Amino acid sequence: MSNTLQVTDLSVPGYERVVRGKDPSCGLHAIIAVHDTTLGPALGGLRMWPYASEDEALFDVKRLSRGMTFKSAVARTGLGGGKAVIIGDPKKIKSEALYLAMGRFVDSLGGKYITAEDVNTSVGDLEIIRRATKYVTGLEKKDGGSGNPSPYTAIGVFLGVKAAVGWKFGNDSLKGKVVAIQGVGAVGSALARRLVEAGATVHAADKNTERLAQLQKEIGLVPTGEAEIMTMKCDVFAPCALGAILTDTTIPKLNTPIVAGAANNLLLEPRHGKMLADRDILYAPDYVINAGGIINVSVEFNPGGYDEKVSLAKIERIPQALKELWTIAKEERIPPSDAADRLAERIVADARGAKKAGSCAVPPRGRSGGGG
Ligand code: NAD
Repeated sequence: MSNTLQVTDLSVPGYERVVRGKDPSCGLHAIIAVHDTTLGPALGGLRMWPYASEDEALFDVKRLSRGMTFKSAVARTGLGGGKAVIIGDPKKIKSEALYLAMGRFVDSLGGKYITAEDVNTSVGDLEIIRRATKYVTGLEKKDGGSGNPSPYTAIGVFLGVKAAVGWKFGNDSLKGKVVAIQGVGAVGSALARRLVEAGATVHAADKNTERLAQLQKEIGLVPTGEAEIMTMKCDVFAPCALGAILTDTTIPKLNTPIVAGAANNLLLEPRHGKMLADRDILYAPDYVINAGGIINVSVEFNPGGYDEKVSLAKIERIPQALKELWTIAKEERIPPSDAADRLAERIVADARGAKKAGSCAVPPRGRSGGGG
């Protein structure tokens, strides 16, 4: 195996480590950002994207890795936050040699960063990376991994939607509630099935009209136009497609008392959390309600290995986490999205403080240490 990997430290303030990996023999140009490992090794997916420049890739990997710290902190996975990106067009640059080089790059951090699937990388790609490093998660269940995270994300979102309905209407029954889902892909379709089973009427929009028709036949979902899905009168709007859809233009047009869905980075800017709150729309912060997938992956790190029961028990705590945030938001008169960020920052700061205190601790009187 040729090894022409060059690793360069980019020294980015506020991040534990940000490194560039280049391997001219296979065209690898990647960045790994380890944002924070106070709570555990930094876990986050590997994204492949045709970024226009390294600066653009750096901006994205920094933003995403910080988001992973927050997400894992609030979900109490015992993991830190990190992310990796490979710069390039997936249709052109994917190769076995590239993934092996990426595996060596991940391995060079000695376990500080653990990789997983993300946009434009598959379990198959991870299998190749696994040949060069053990710091890989999300492999098939038959290979000892936790498998596809989407069904677990959907369970968490479903429980979160129920919690939001309970919070807003004083009763969490979904019978007769109208839910509008934007995007019925891996997560959205599993969510739709659960909602229909619970007695909700589900409307959905998707660019994939075949999938919509199939779901209409299977579960009685009501196909709805892409433009209507965000403005229709409903009890819950569940965005499960794209990020950055809650903006100055779209928020005034929402006709729902609740926004609770799976998509990441829903708010175009943090201030849009306040805009929702000002309209009395209850928001389930994205990285809290959609944490089922990362929770499932984190169970791979249990001493006994992956166990679905442990994963489901942890996912069932998502409603509790949301209620905690809505309570903070109410008491402190801040939007739930800000409450989530504050809670995440506090969890990390407390752990950092506890670690520091532990490392400076004076041995108790009478136990001088070193005696056994
Ligand atoms: P997916 O690609 O399987 O599904 C997305 C669906 O949205 C597709 O069916 C696509 O056709 C549809 N879509 C795209 N643009 C649309 C538009 N303008 N209007 C309506 N539909 C549109 O993705 P997924 O795995 O289901 O993830 C959905 C979202 O949840 C993403 O934002 C993802 O980042 C986030 N998320 C997913 C997971 C997971 O475990 N899969 C975990 C956390 C967050």
